[in-house]
Amino acid sequence: MAEAPEGEAPGGVDVLSGAERTAPSDPECAQGAPSGAEGASGAKGALSGAERTAPSDAECAQGAPSGAERTEVAPTDAECAQGAPSDTDRRAMELALEEADRAALHGDVPIGCVILDAQGELLARSHNRREIDADPTGHAEVLALRLAAERIGHWRLTGATLYVTLEPCAMCAGALVNARIGRLVYGAADPKAGAVGSLYQLHQDTRLNHRFPCTAGVLAEASRDRLQAFFRRLRAEGQK
Ligand SMILES: [Zn+2]
Repeated sequence: MAEAPEGEAPGGVDVLSGAERTAPSDPECAQGAPSGAEGASGAKGALSGAERTAPSDAECAQGAPSGAERTEVAPTDAECAQGAPSDTDRRAMELALEEADRAALHGDVPIGCVILDAQGELLARSHNRREIDADPTGHAEVLALRLAAERIGHWRLTGATLYVTLEPCAMCAGALVNARIGRLVYGAADPKAGAVGSLYQLHQDTRLNHRFPCTAGVLAEASRDRLQAFFRRLRAEGQK
């Protein structure tokens, strides 16, 4: 049931997304000739040769995608289910919380993830390793998806359920779409970076080629407690 307090994100979430939160004032990507193309002569060689064609045809249409506003108005089925978790969901989230604790052991933000197959068997478990691996994609969900896909020998995880202690970011939500995940269950909402309910509803975006149901708020309190304790400790140590 728990939702992240509005306007008062858990310290963890704040710091977690702090660096990336700089709001882009201009959502459009720059267009034009790539650097180095102007005045490039044949002497530039093969590398620049291919790109020297005038980019007039290469420009993509810009502007708000059609239907974007309508999607923002939270269609009912874009909302994550809330409520008392099933025994399976609760047990899986407890495992994910154990994984979150492992992340904190090596100085990573405590976020954990597990994936169960359609029969409820454990396919993968992982945790955030962004700091220890110096990997911007080292989020718990991405790592768990890789492990699960390796385990079953295919990238398609149809029928599987992914449990994660914090609402997935845009990257991870995109990875879930790409994995054709069967269902998502998460703990605490992330009002600063969450892409499955908070900032975006990528799990129910009709412009994408896969959608999946989501249940939110499962053991959210325990997830938030870990994040807040982690960042409180960091601040006490003067690292942040
Ligand atoms: Zn993520």
